[in-house]
Amino acid sequence: MPAEIAGSRIIVTGGQGFLGGAVCRALEAAGCEHVFAASHAVHDLTTESGANRLMREAFPGHAPEIVIHLAARVGGIQANADRPGDFFRDNMAMTLNVIEACRRAGLGNDRGKLVYIASTGCYPKLAPVPHREEDLWAGYPDPSIASYAVAKRAAFTMLESYRTQFGLRSAFLMPINLYGPGDHFEDPAGHVIPALVRRFSEAQARWDKEAVCWGSGSPTREFLYVDDAAQAILRAVERIDTPTPINIGTGQEVSIRQVTQMIAQLVGFQGLIHWDKTKPDGSARRTIDTAKARRLLEWEATTPLRQGLQQTISWYRARYPAPQTVPA
Ligand code: GDP
Repeated sequence: MPAEIAGSRIIVTGGQGFLGGAVCRALEAAGCEHVFAASHAVHDLTTESGANRLMREAFPGHAPEIVIHLAARVGGIQANADRPGDFFRDNMAMTLNVIEACRRAGLGNDRGKLVYIASTGCYPKLAPVPHREEDLWAGYPDPSIASYAVAKRAAFTMLESYRTQFGLRSAFLMPINLYGPGDHFEDPAGHVIPALVRRFSEAQARWDKEAVCWGSGSPTREFLYVDDAAQAILRAVERIDTPTPINIGTGQEVSIRQVTQMIAQLVGFQGLIHWDKTKPDGSARRTIDTAKARRLLEWEATTPLRQGLQQTISWYRARYPAPQTVPA
């Protein structure tokens, strides 16, 4: 990490969260000494006053120089279906408040930088697979996550506008589905990997004969290990000044059925897997082209899925030890 970045005052919004924790650890490992991990419990970024207060209070008496905006209302397929209004309002409000608060705090005129984290869920439902950045605006997102996706897409236009009018330097990254240590294992409406790590671990501990997974198992996804995503974000801090959508992923497409089998095997669950077709499948395929990240960030994911899952399961077991039981 170049010395001028390592010496910068850096705010990480969502810094206490899953990806935020990994980003803060990576910044510290790269020699950054002035990192403020913001938390929504203290600074509510859905309000203008919360965002402005964060900029003032993170480094009292000094403005931030780099802002990495990770805070978002996120959730799995079920949470998006149940509360689309919350997803739209909160993500739209955070986008508007954080970008404007950065400008007010003095980022702009080619000073400082904002790294904005969106998601590959922003792509049109019918975008060719693997998704390429130039197709971002070629159609409406999958209705199952449209509220979240449209709110995050809007940020790109705001960042371009602020670059043009105020000289605000920024990067716009679109990570694919993340997983890893620190994920939300307790959320019944969470994403597929933490949900299945927990469900299979509990089923294995109880010697259950069957475990239930959602949908048909045939959709495909791509999964990125959280520490790999953090490294991509550090590269964007170093190298990107002008907002352009950049996919962050592995380029490896895998079916939900394959991931399910891998997790079952790694936790030692030997029962049957039942697919509950009353639960939604969501997008049929999701995988991205990662050539632009390789070119602009000179970054590539390095953790293979099986190894990342193993590390995730080890972390989960250390954090949530299973009660010892014997077969009935
Ligand atoms: P998505 O990637 O935005 O669609 O969000 P999810 O991570 O919630 O779901 C990914 C895929 O995994 C969908 O096809 C789900 O039907 C499937 N899936 C299978 N079992 C589960 C589960 O227990 N929880 C979740 N969230 N998804 C599951």
